[in-house]
Amino acid sequence: MKNKIHKYDFLIVGAGLIGTIAALALIKKKFKVLVIDKNNRTFEDNRTLAVNANSVDFLKSLGIWNDLRSKPQPIDKIVIKDYINKNPLIFENVNEPMGNVIFNKEIYKRAVLKLKKFKILITNSDLKTSEFLPHKKIYINQNYYTFKKVIMSIGKNIILNKRHSSIIFNSGHYSQVGFIQHTKNHNNTAYEFFTDEGPLAILPVPADNRKRSTFIYSSKDLIDKSQLKKLIYKKIEKSHGKLIFDQSILKFPITPHLTKDDKNYIYVGDSLKSIHPVAGQGWNLGIKDVQTLCRLIDQFSLEEKNFNSYYYSRRFLESTLYLGFTSILNHLYENKNSSNIKIVKLGFKVLNNIKVVRDLFIRQAMGRTNLID
Ligand SMILES: Cc1cc2nc3c(=O)[nH]c(=O)nc-3n(C[C@H](O)[C@H](O)[C@H](O)COP(=O)(O)OP(=O)(O)OC[C@H]3O[C@@H](n4cnc5c(N)ncnc54)[C@H](O)[C@@H]3O)c2cc1C
Repeated sequence: MKNKIHKYDFLIVGAGLIGTIAALALIKKKFKVLVIDKNNRTFEDNRTLAVNANSVDFLKSLGIWNDLRSKPQPIDKIVIKDYINKNPLIFENVNEPMGNVIFNKEIYKRAVLKLKKFKILITNSDLKTSEFLPHKKIYINQNYYTFKKVIMSIGKNIILNKRHSSIIFNSGHYSQVGFIQHTKNHNNTAYEFFTDEGPLAILPVPADNRKRSTFIYSSKDLIDKSQLKKLIYKKIEKSHGKLIFDQSILKFPITPHLTKDDKNYIYVGDSLKSIHPVAGQGWNLGIKDVQTLCRLIDQFSLEEKNFNSYYYSRRFLESTLYLGFTSILNHLYENKNSSNIKIVKLGFKVLNNIKVVRDLFIRQAMGRTNLID
C-alpha cells in the first residue's frame, strides 16, 4: 500500500514548548495529529518558566503537571520596585499561588515522552514549511499524508521565514539569564525592579531549602558579568542575603513580533507573537492560544471556512495588548522625563489604591481573564 494516503486532522510544525502541548490537547480531543520538527531537541535547556495559575490547570488536565520530577516553586507574592516611586507595588493572592516556577525541560520532557508513546513525533525533518498546506498531499518519511489543518509552532524562527509575514518591533534589548544561591529564604516572593537601563526580574526556582533564584536582566547595553552581579547585589542583598552566582550567564536577543493571519496556517506560541520577557507571560500566552483553539473546535467543524479567522480575531487583541503594554512600560522607564515620570506615578497610585484595577491586574497575571472568548 505504498501510495496509501494517511488522512489526518492536524499537522503541527514545530515540537517546542507549545507545539508539543497543542498536540497533547488535540489528541485528548480524539483528533489524529502528526507533529514534525526540524531538530531533535534535547532536554538541556536550563531556563525556567513562570507558569501562571491558568497554565497550571491546563497542564493538570493533560496529565503533565502531576508527573513533574522536581517540585514547582510557588510564587505567593510579587513585589515591583522602581527608581521613581518610594513605595513598592505588592501583589498577593490569598486563595492560590499566583504562579509556579518550573524548569522548561521538566515540562518539555514530559510532553515529548507522551508524544513518543503515541508514535506521532517525527524529528530531524528537512521539509520546508512552505510544503505544508492544508488538504495538500504531503510526502513525509516515505508516507503520503493529508491534513485538514496546519498549525505553525516553529517559535521565533517564523520571523526569519519569508513565507510568513511578521511585524517586528525591534526592542534592541538583550536578556541575560542566570542563577543564584542565597543565604536567606526567598519566601516564595518574585521581584521586578525597573531601572533606567531595563527591567531586572528575580524569581524563586525549585529547591527545597528555598534559597535558590534565577535572574533575568534585559537592557539595550549588555553589561559585563561583574556589573550585573553588582546590580543584583544592590537590589536583593537585604532580602536574599549573601549571594553566590552560578558560572554561566546566558544571553538572548529580544525581538518582539506579531505574525499576520494567514488562511493556510494557525500560528500558536512564539510563532504568533513574542513579547518582551518583562511580563513573564510569553509561554503562558501560547497556552492561551492552544486553549482558544480547543474552544473553537468545540464550537465549529474543522471544515468551517472562517475557522482560522475566528481564531485570529480571538487571539489578536490579547497578543497586541501584551506587546503594547510591555513596549510602553520599557519606554517609560528608559526615557526619564517629567511626563513619563508622571505617568508611572499615576500607574502606581491607581494600582495601589483602586481595588477593582488591582484585582484585574492580579487576575490577568494569573491568566484568569479572557479578553475575547
Ligand atoms: C529569557 C526568557 C525568559 C522567559 N521567561 C518566561 C516566563 O517566565 N514565562 C513565560 O510564560 N514565558 C517566558 N518566556 C517565553 C517562552 O520561553 C516562549 O514563549 C516559549 O518558549 C515559546 O514556545 P514555542 O513552542 O512557541 O517555541 P519554541 O519552544 O522555540 O519551539 C519551536 C520549535 O520549532 C522547531 N522549528 C523551528 N523551525 C522549524 C521548521 N522550519 N520546521 C520544523 N520545526 C521547526 C524548533 O526546533 C523548536 O523545537 C521567556 C523567554 C525568554 C527569552
